[in-house]
Amino acid sequence: MVYLDNAATTFVSPAAARAAVEAMTELCGNPSSTHAPGRAAKAALEKARGQVASALCCSAEEVIFTSCGTEADNWAIAAGVQAGRRLGHHVVTTAVEHDAVLRPLQQLTTRGYEVTFVAPGRDGAVTAQDVLAAVRPDTALVTVMLVNNETGAVNPVSEISRGLRAAGHGALLHTDAVQGFLKLPFTPAKLGVDLLSVSGHKIHGPKGSGALYVRKGLHLQPFLQGGGQERGLRSGTEAVPALCAFGAAAEEGAACMKESRARISELRHAAEELLAGKVPQAQVLVSGGADDILSLSLPGYRSEVLLNCLDADGICVSRSSACRKGRRSHVLEAMGIPADVIDGAIRVSFSRYNTMEDVSAFVDSLAAAALRLRHR
Ligand code: PLP
Repeated sequence: MVYLDNAATTFVSPAAARAAVEAMTELCGNPSSTHAPGRAAKAALEKARGQVASALCCSAEEVIFTSCGTEADNWAIAAGVQAGRRLGHHVVTTAVEHDAVLRPLQQLTTRGYEVTFVAPGRDGAVTAQDVLAAVRPDTALVTVMLVNNETGAVNPVSEISRGLRAAGHGALLHTDAVQGFLKLPFTPAKLGVDLLSVSGHKIHGPKGSGALYVRKGLHLQPFLQGGGQERGLRSGTEAVPALCAFGAAAEEGAACMKESRARISELRHAAEELLAGKVPQAQVLVSGGADDILSLSLPGYRSEVLLNCLDADGICVSRSSACRKGRRSHVLEAMGIPADVIDGAIRVSFSRYNTMEDVSAFVDSLAAAALRLRHR
């Protein structure tokens, strides 16, 4: 199998899997219990928090574990508008956010909130000027994703933050950094954000693990109420094995980020070169963003048919986002891409485990599929 769908999810790394097995077999206690097994589980949980915090270059108390990136996004939005309510009921976002942000925002509009969706340029990114122009005195929250999950386009989050602060605006700033974490070098402080979401399964950790960075000093409404875990903000007995694995994956990913980025960049450039030679009808839709996501299209072909051909050859890529089955990509539509180009779009996403052989196998399979389908 050739796995090139790493923006959908990644393999759990051996170190992360070991951490989960160790926690499942050796840590039987509840981290809230005061006896020895409880204290051991608590220590393992805090080690994981420290590992995620260190990968984010923030303090451990700013990391609140969640069950996934979606939960972190949902919570950031619900609690963000609540924390900024003295300013008003307006939110600024982009038209290219993940559904984990768009859906809760749509729900807010049914409760009297107004949401402005800033459109991206043809490069898939919004400009800081457009976002700042949409901010009003009654804007409570600005939420702009760092890296788009369909195109890899990178948004100017730190420039937006600087603009907000320079204008003396008190709106909170959230970024969905699920696709940027350990793919691009950033820290929440350098981005200047108040809230930032990450997810374990995009960085070779397990599914069902995530975190919300909450800037020190910011008081949020709890996401789940109950026993008071996660500093009273997210109750529920912590998923110790998944979180230990998330911590291990974050530590490992941070340690090898420089080499991973160099390797992924080589793979992407090789893929683009091979495509230009062997599949000349393929158009690369976004350049200059995060190298690990390659969005391309074969206009006139149907992406689901291409995907089936690739799948038959054991090659895994995706249409646009793994979560938008059957619907035309709102991201590519917002970029003003013609319908025939959107309908032939596929997303290839690399990880540090991919090889040049994977890239060649993908391009050869796509070239063969394009030829076969053209002659039908
Ligand atoms: N945000 C972005 C940009 C994503 O790509 C994803 C997952 O694809 C999510 C949020 C949701 O993360 P999770 O799958 O951990 O809920």
